[in-house]
Amino acid sequence: MRNVVMKFGGTSVADADAIRRLMDIVRAEAARTGPPVVVVSAMSKVTDHLLKMVAEVSRGERGSIQVGVDELRHRHLTAIEALVGYHKRADVSAKIEMQVEELRAMLTALAILREASPRSMDGVAAAGELLSSRLVAAAFQSAGVDAVWVDARRAIVTDDNYTAAVPDIAATHAALMREVRPHLESGRIPVLGGYVGATKDGVATTLGRGGSDYSAALVGEGAGVSEIQIWTDVDGMLTADPRVVSNPRVVSHLSFGEASELAYFGAKVLHPSTILPAVSADIPVRILNSHRPDAPGTLITARPPLNDRPITALACKRNVTVVEVTSTRMLMAHGFLRRLFEVFERYRTAVDVVTTSEVSVSVTIDDSRNLAGIAAALREFAEVTIEPDMALLCAVGENLRSDPAFAIRMLAGLEGVALRMVSQAASRRNVTVVIRDADVATAMSRLHDAWFAEPQQETRLEAAR
Ligand code: ADP
Ligand code: ASP
Ligand code: MG
Repeated sequence: MRNVVMKFGGTSVADADAIRRLMDIVRAEAARTGPPVVVVSAMSKVTDHLLKMVAEVSRGERGSIQVGVDELRHRHLTAIEALVGYHKRADVSAKIEMQVEELRAMLTALAILREASPRSMDGVAAAGELLSSRLVAAAFQSAGVDAVWVDARRAIVTDDNYTAAVPDIAATHAALMREVRPHLESGRIPVLGGYVGATKDGVATTLGRGGSDYSAALVGEGAGVSEIQIWTDVDGMLTADPRVVSNPRVVSHLSFGEASELAYFGAKVLHPSTILPAVSADIPVRILNSHRPDAPGTLITARPPLNDRPITALACKRNVTVVEVTSTRMLMAHGFLRRLFEVFERYRTAVDVVTTSEVSVSVTIDDSRNLAGIAAALREFAEVTIEPDMALLCAVGENLRSDPAFAIRMLAGLEGVALRMVSQAASRRNVTVVIRDADVATAMSRLHDAWFAEPQQETRLEAAR
């Protein structure tokens, strides 16, 4: 059995108790498969806090710098006191102090400049994972575990698309071979921050919110591990978003394709890009609960065993915007769609769902930061209507391919809910409807009751027909 990579999310490194649990989990894995690579997120809420501070200082509000930075400093030093023996504390505390002072200087400079460029945001946001990873590495060392801190900025090489940087796979693999692999071969546990990378010139970047999962998968692919473990605060991939539905169940096994669709359509437990490296190196991904390490979790592989469930899980992406573009004259003209999508491309805004009618095209977007510019550009050649506060509700499952009537049953199950758009993916692995965000809880619960309520699954299924 080869080494594995283990990624721990924010709540799994939230404080000294959480980090102790993490250490037990890692020790047990090391005893089974040798030293794993450990990838950690920032302590919970830290990234939100850092980005909020950037927004404030860029508006000239300097008041929060001292309090905000001191709070972060205190939180990390408190954890060090609890986890690192007195005689071993000096070194890591000094490193944390240095990182904290660098952060304070960065925020002060941004306040003077009143600046919040994506590049500055990444410089500040990277501090969260740099701090947490130093802390976790030191906790291991203090407990006599042979662990070593690895600077993620030297291990993940990206382009300069700050806040959503794209890894250069070849350069990242070379860097991982240099920065991570030798430690594993010498029996040491490399500990690095997720989410963070750097351009080839060494400027800090981030892979986008939730990107630590993606880091773990990149590290897994580059370091040639046998499994990518995502340790989080739920028991695995659930049959619906637990923030929306009260009784979701764990999906024990799903395919890479299903996991990608669920992640893309809002199952926050996995960053949407996580599966790409896993697919290219055919590495299984496991989602596990750091609060209940003995629970079986979810396994994600290329070909899960056949099953007869109609769908695998539901996901929802909330607060999306529908942009409807109408042109009575132009729609049928060739070149219209190209022109339309060029606008979204120019504003670097991804479109999730598209439907067309004779005179209009409706698209949904998740990122509405550039909405004003997009609308103005589209109005140069068409009429534009914007509908905010919408949501995507998506049913995903490999079995949908062989069940042509599923979409009809899903729509029947949503009777009374206003459907704004309906789309079946070309992969036929998902059916997506666009509804009002206010209807998500009702709609998702109703579908979930129909397909996942045990024990009368079949009866309920009939009811949904
Ligand atoms: P971490 O900090 O460990 O990366 P995240 O908050 O990013 O954790 O992801 C875990 C959260 O994802 C869960 O607490 C849950 O609220 C949310 N979530 C949304 N949809 C799903 C789903 N289908 N299955 C599991 N969790 C989901
Ligand atoms: N800390 C980052 C975030 O909150 C990355 C992650 O946790 O995956 O988005
Ligand atoms: Mg996450």
